[in-house]
Amino acid sequence: MSKEKLAIHGGEPVRSEKIYYGRQWINEDDVKAVSETLLSDYLTTGPKVAALEDVLCEYTGAKFATVVSNGTAALHLAAIAAGIGEGDEVITTGLTFMASANCALYCGGKPVFADIDPETYNIDPAEIEKKITSRTKAVVAVDYAGCSIDHAAIREICDRHHLVFIEDAAHAIGTRDHGQGVGSIADMTCFSFHPVKTVTSGEGGAITTNDPELHHKLQLLRSHGIEHDEALMWEAPHEGIWYYEQQMLGYNYRLTDFQAALLMSQMNRIDMFIERRHAITEKYNAAFADLPEIILQKELPDTQNVHHLYEIRLNDELLSCTRREFFDAMSAENVQCQIHYVPVYWMPYYKSLGYTEGLCPNCEKVYKGILSIPLYPRLTDAETDDVIKAVRKIVEWYRI
Ligand SMILES: *Cc1c(COP(=O)(O)O)cnc(C)c1O
Repeated sequence: MSKEKLAIHGGEPVRSEKIYYGRQWINEDDVKAVSETLLSDYLTTGPKVAALEDVLCEYTGAKFATVVSNGTAALHLAAIAAGIGEGDEVITTGLTFMASANCALYCGGKPVFADIDPETYNIDPAEIEKKITSRTKAVVAVDYAGCSIDHAAIREICDRHHLVFIEDAAHAIGTRDHGQGVGSIADMTCFSFHPVKTVTSGEGGAITTNDPELHHKLQLLRSHGIEHDEALMWEAPHEGIWYYEQQMLGYNYRLTDFQAALLMSQMNRIDMFIERRHAITEKYNAAFADLPEIILQKELPDTQNVHHLYEIRLNDELLSCTRREFFDAMSAENVQCQIHYVPVYWMPYYKSLGYTEGLCPNCEKVYKGILSIPLYPRLTDAETDDVIKAVRKIVEWYRI
């Protein structure tokens, strides 16, 4: 078979219109839900947020949920509720969005990076164990690309060392491990509802937990640390029903009710979104199965994973191009990829804190080879075929 000239070298591109790695899907029902709420009595946190918390509990299997303004706020509040303070160490992964590590810094704590498993790209439990010191307080584990972490192994380590198990499930609403929903397994699970995630409220986030005390703290922290409960009146009989108390230093991390209405409406279609992501993933898996030049992310047995990202990893022993050349060649074919993620501790800010390259060799090795190709529910079959065509065309060109 003769090789097809790549668009980057002046050949015909696989498609004429650019497609991107991810995008939201808003329909008329969503618009209606938002506009109805805009005309209701509540604009900020009100009955829609409370109803959304119930929906998230039902969906994930968690006992409690606290909806907040974004996923970063969710991680911040989880770190405070976990008791992270000055000098406390929090173990996390380098292959993530920096918010997973920043939450420790917000509390005066220190992120400690444990290396990933080179096949699943998720934090390696054996590496967590190696990083534990007398200052370690918590683990923030990320379901990378939506693929389940090894909950049982991390739970066992956290229990044995009295660490709080926080899960950053920004990619993983709907993912299940041994039948259990992500959100009901770790001590606290943080979600994001940014537009590239599986369901969106524009900006939004949530923390789920099964622990009533953590839940109470999270609810207070979301709104200035204020307790406003009729029961308080018994303790302050000289006051009236207006009475409220600030019990801790909280924030304003509230979500508006109209954003909650948008997410509730999106939750009506989450199963369809997930099925579509799954179908596209299966198609990609089948299309790349015969290409040793492309390495695919491995999933743990007995997990059902919601594919937030589809990662192709270049096998540099079988391809003559760099990742940069592959990425640019895909762009020229009008398939815009993205890279998730530059290792957190490579960031200039982290370097200024003393972190250095080389800390997590597997993380760096995987980072250097991966690209996220388009994956979102509205991607059509024809577009999926174009992505496959572009990948195969470029692989064939650069095959050694
Ligand atoms: C998106 C994301 C976040 C942050 O969520 P926001 O809602 O954008 O604040 C945190 N961690 C991971 C892994 C993410 O992908």
